[in-house]
This record gives sequence, structure tokens and C-alpha cells, in this order.
Amino acid sequence: MIDKKLQDAINHQINKEFTASYTYLAMAAHLDGMFLKGFASWMEKQSEEERGHGQKLLRYMLDRGGNVQLSAIPKPEPKLGSLREVFELSLTQERENTAAIYDIYELARELKDYASQAQMQWFIDEQVEEEKTVSDILGRLELAGDDKSALLILDDQMGQRPKESATELE
Ligand code: MG
Repeated sequence: MIDKKLQDAINHQINKEFTASYTYLAMAAHLDGMFLKGFASWMEKQSEEERGHGQKLLRYMLDRGGNVQLSAIPKPEPKLGSLREVFELSLTQERENTAAIYDIYELARELKDYASQAQMQWFIDEQVEEEKTVSDILGRLELAGDDKSALLILDDQMGQRPKESATELE
């Protein structure tokens, strides 16, 4: 059984992952509307990945006999701007998410809940990857600058992101 405080924190994190998924979906729609179809497709896959994270945590709670409490997903940020601004917002969101996961890890450590620490370690590793990926994209956007040809090449490359497989979440 998981400590009640940890259950609350994990339930909150489930909501954060689904919120991130919803935000990425809004970003995908925004980018699609800008004819950046490759970036939009990448965002859609990112949205799926975040939903997978939420489901992974939900499954963990059930496996530990915890009480899953789903709460409302807030409306996504309505003011989405340029491509660069969208990815800057994405990086901010990922950094906040990393901090939230660190807090849960810390709580699990205080409670000597080793299984939850191991579960959170998976998310910590995942966050390293997420932050690196978004930082790399921002770096490449910086390199492309105002060059439309470079932007279209990047858009094409972003569109080639493979679909997230369920096994990657295990
Ligand atoms: Mg996530």
C-alpha cells in the first residue's frame, strides 16, 4: 500500500501528464494551422507520449493498491505564438514537470518507499530525454533563423518522428 501523501502526489502527477498531453495537442493544432505539418505531427506524437506517461502512473497506482483519483484537465494556454515560442513554452512545461517529479521522488525517499523511488527514477530519466530533445529543437530553430528553406527541411525531419510504441513505456 502507498502512503496517502504519496498517493495524492501521484494522482496530482497523473493530472499533470494528461494536462501536458492536452497542451501538446493544442500546440499540434496550432502548428498544423501554420502549415508546419511536420512540427504538428511531432507534437501530436508528443501528446500521445504524455498520455502514455499518465497511464503508466495510473497503472502503477493500481498495481500498488492505491486509490486513483482523476481530476479535471485545465484548458490549454490559449495564446500560442510563433514556432519558437511554442517550443519555448514546451521547454518551460518540461522543466516544471521535472521539478514536480523530483518532489515526488523526494517524498518517496522520505517515506522509504523504494518501489515508488524506482518508478520515479524512470520518469527522471525520461525527463532528461524530454528536456534534451526540446532544447535541441530550439537550437536547430535558432540555426535556421529566418531561412524558410531551412525551416521546411526541419519541418520535414520533424515529421519523420516514429510513432511511440507502447513497449517504450515499460
Ligand atoms: Mg511526461
